[in-house]
Amino acid sequence: MNVADSFRVAAALEELGFSPTNLPDQADVIVLNTCVVRESAEQKAIGRLTSLKSLKTKNPDLVISLMGCMVGVHDSSNLRKRYPYVDVFSQPSDPGPLINHLHGKNINAIQYRQISDILDTQYAYTLPITKENELISAFLPIVFGCSHACSYCIIPLRRGKEISRPPQEILADATALVDRGVKEITLLGQIVDRYGHDQPGYPTLDVLMRQMHELEGLQRIRFLTSHPNWMTDKILDAVAELPKVMPYFELPNQAGDDQVLKDMRRGYTIDQYIRMIEKIRSRLDIVSIATDIIVGFPGESASQFERSVDLLKTVRPDMTHVARYSPRPGTYSAQKMVDDVPPEEKMRRFRIIEKLQEQITTEINQKYLYTTVPVLFEGRSKERWRGRTPTNKLVFIENDKNLLGKIIDVTITWSGPWSMIGEAKPILSNK
Ligand code: SAH
Repeated sequence: MNVADSFRVAAALEELGFSPTNLPDQADVIVLNTCVVRESAEQKAIGRLTSLKSLKTKNPDLVISLMGCMVGVHDSSNLRKRYPYVDVFSQPSDPGPLINHLHGKNINAIQYRQISDILDTQYAYTLPITKENELISAFLPIVFGCSHACSYCIIPLRRGKEISRPPQEILADATALVDRGVKEITLLGQIVDRYGHDQPGYPTLDVLMRQMHELEGLQRIRFLTSHPNWMTDKILDAVAELPKVMPYFELPNQAGDDQVLKDMRRGYTIDQYIRMIEKIRSRLDIVSIATDIIVGFPGESASQFERSVDLLKTVRPDMTHVARYSPRPGTYSAQKMVDDVPPEEKMRRFRIIEKLQEQITTEINQKYLYTTVPVLFEGRSKERWRGRTPTNKLVFIENDKNLLGKIIDVTITWSGPWSMIGEAKPILSNK
């Protein structure tokens, strides 16, 4: 979501006549887009922000904008006091304050378009010019904010309440992205399968995907992150029936123990989660599933943690994003629960999950050996082309042709836990 938000700001700045630079001390404007989902992310953002101070001292004309979840949707007066060298504070996803600020300042060498044009397109997610015909896979937020309030999660506090975007805006953005060379769009929401539920009259995710499926030139559609309670049969039908919708689910579980899940306020039991996974796998022949696990949630005992291990052994997801719990300001768990699992123990649990998942993924990926899968190529890494299978597996191949944005059948010749290597099959046409 932050990547999409950053592109949105970059594109708005281009509208104002700015162009990108990799050198911070040559920049007229620096936007720091921030994530605070875990304490480590916030520390990183603070470190970066602090390092910008000396640039501002050297060049007082530099405009520094702090954006995203560090700012949040509520009162930012404390931040303003703490970081007086920041010129603009912007909520997540909103380029408005920065654009207004720059318009108010008369920076030379900027050819302003009508400011109203830009603010009209404020909700357009688009690509910066530098990414046109280069970025093959783009992110497109369809639900802002979140109203679920998991007890550990700061996102609802910083991104505000859940608001689905109007379908016509989403389709317009998607069309524009495809016009700029994008072949794959990943629809984003904190609970993406809730799309439309907050707005009477809006389509649901399955209907939206059916509408997007009609877009000529768009090759692949993905969506994340899903919550098990909102995954409907209709969404599964859409994934099964629509060739452009990729069979890949990000379905965080978070913990393997019912009491911990309850304390997390996830709203489902382990049994319900497992049944949902079984349902997805019985509906779709080919599918991959990723999950998230938090280790060391307040009160999680060693034996409760073992149930997360058991769960992974039962579910055998393709991927687990594992995180060590950190208390986040303003959340229920930070205020009412004791962060009682010591850091070393969190690390021990983290490593166990990591190692187990590596083994599971290695085994799953081995089944791809000598099979042929359609890979969409997104770019090059060193001498090789890099792409993804429908199930979101990373594949590298060596090839002299320009494969950027092409879908090629690839026979897998090597597989590891994080990627695969293959050969193009059949022989490519020269198109
Ligand atoms: N809305 C999505 C993603 C939320 S953020 C969802 O509900 O699944 C991505 C991941 O960060 C979460 O899935 C969770 O595993 C992790 N996370 C969130 N808050 C955390 C915290 N306080 N400490 C550690 N990990 C956290």
